[in-house]
Amino acid sequence: MKKKNISILGSTGSIGSQTLDVIRRNPNDYQVEGLTVNKSIEKLLEQINEFKPKSVAIFDDTAYQDFLDIVKTNQSTNPNLSQLEVYKGHEGLIKIASSKTIDILVTAVVGMIGLLPTVEAIKNSTTIALANKETLVTAGKIVMDLARQYKAKILPVDSEHSAIFQCLNGEDSNKIDKILLTASGGPFRGRPKEDLIKVSKSAALKHPNWSMGQKISIDSSTLMNKGLEVIEAKWLFDVEPEDIVVHVHPESIVHSMVQFEDSSVIAQLGCPDMRVPIQYALTYPKRIDSNFERLDLFKIASLNFEKPNLDTFPCLALAYRALKEGGSTATVLNAANEVLVEKFLADKIGFYDIPKYIEQAMDEHSFIDRPTLDDILATDAWTRDYIESILG
Ligand code: NAD
Ligand code: MG
Repeated sequence: MKKKNISILGSTGSIGSQTLDVIRRNPNDYQVEGLTVNKSIEKLLEQINEFKPKSVAIFDDTAYQDFLDIVKTNQSTNPNLSQLEVYKGHEGLIKIASSKTIDILVTAVVGMIGLLPTVEAIKNSTTIALANKETLVTAGKIVMDLARQYKAKILPVDSEHSAIFQCLNGEDSNKIDKILLTASGGPFRGRPKEDLIKVSKSAALKHPNWSMGQKISIDSSTLMNKGLEVIEAKWLFDVEPEDIVVHVHPESIVHSMVQFEDSSVIAQLGCPDMRVPIQYALTYPKRIDSNFERLDLFKIASLNFEKPNLDTFPCLALAYRALKEGGSTATVLNAANEVLVEKFLADKIGFYDIPKYIEQAMDEHSFIDRPTLDDILATDAWTRDYIESILG
């Protein structure tokens, strides 16, 4: 069988590296065509030597120049560099994503920077393995409409959405009653609000069950990650906001569930390992053998579920508000959150400044009911400027 050609946006990150691990384990099924990174050129070089891509893109300008110097110095002795195409910046990401020879584009960048490359790949009818949830949060309607128009498959990589997708296999003609979206609760589950006002970024980065990039780790501590996932679920599965019910499930074993009209609930379970949903997106509709850890329910013994506390974690309530308002509001929520998480990571603001300023931006923005892609880009830019103007 012909090997599938894979390109990865964000290949050095948590999802990107785990995607390459799945490819490493299945060398007869996959080959890597393109890789993109922000700044991590050392790690990129290792990946180039192992996976021998045809092309790469580096977003950051200084890292791009440094990388060109490395290529120049080493291309006569390293055959992996002699033919390599090297692109720069956002244009470079788009170039890699829009290659007509890739079978699957794995979008594993963090943030709405993934939007335009994903849109270009969809226009080629390329299958998208989507980890980059910000893309659907900021422009869900446009992305899903384009995917339908160009018959491009969007295969979810986010563990909850992969679970829902798996629960819906063979259920095309059956109506979803509710989606029961599970959440670990993050590092601050059960803690009172007063405790969290002055919480440090290192405490917020300590996720109990998953090891992930910094941005999604902070989003997990505020429960914004779950808010973004509620919006992602709406677009992927076409469900009303009130029918997406977040269940805090600290063991992270049930990855999500679907309740049908007849009251039956179907769930997908497994050990917390992102390589499982990544692999499923690459092999879909097949499942292939793996030696990933097997679930031992005797050892786990009990599974717990509780309601999220929206008072302690207002970001989740803001995401439901954005979804109910529709139009451009989720774009504001996402952009404000991206900027504020960066500021929290730089020790410039406190934990509760994140929801405070997101809400302020949502209140202040000029609402657009049916935004075009250009409206979304303009709203995103307005929001970033607005937050900068308040915080200086
Ligand atoms: P990460 O920070 O570990 O990695 C991000 C990757 O994107 C890196 O390779 C980085 O070099 C690259 N990148 C960052 N900014 C870029 C830019 N401007 N241009 C080009 N490349 C850029 O992030 P992650 O944890 O792997 O998350 C990636 C996406 O997957 C996020 O949208 C996240 O919400 C989603 N996701 C992650 C997990 C997880 O377990 N890590 C689970 C579900 C969903
Ligand atoms: Mg998730």
